[in-house]
Amino acid sequence: MNEEQLIAAARQAALKAYAPYSGFSVGCAIESVDGEVATGVNVENACYRLGVCAEQSALSAAHLAFGLAKVARIAVAGGDGSADSLAGAIVCTPCGGCRQAIYEAYCLSARDIEIICSSGDGATVERHSISTLIPHGFGPANLEDAV
Ligand SMILES: [Zn+2]
Repeated sequence: MNEEQLIAAARQAALKAYAPYSGFSVGCAIESVDGEVATGVNVENACYRLGVCAEQSALSAAHLAFGLAKVARIAVAGGDGSADSLAGAIVCTPCGGCRQAIYEAYCLSARDIEIICSSGDGATVERHSISTLIPHGFGPANLEDAV
């Protein structure tokens, strides 16, 4: 799957987001080293703080499909999902919590995961790596002193 297709998968998934409170639909598509793709969307809740981000729901799907250690790259797109296609001009980057969640896959894979961040309309794209989005992250190695 090329980058455009991965972004398209994230944008398409976003149309299935459950975002009645924010009105901000997010989709995430995660590709494995073998080319498999898992997707996720944000799922909000009436108890606002219990909402789940698209990246974290996609990571869960990816773990079930091929395992976190095989995550190669991630596309995320967010915007207005109320029409037939995702809209919006502002690039959607993972929140801090999702960066931490992606960092876990980075630690397991020892691969600097590429994160492709797209505007809702897909017209603007930024490319990052997890090591630049969350430098000095907290990972499994930080727990080595635990008893
Ligand atoms: Zn998030």
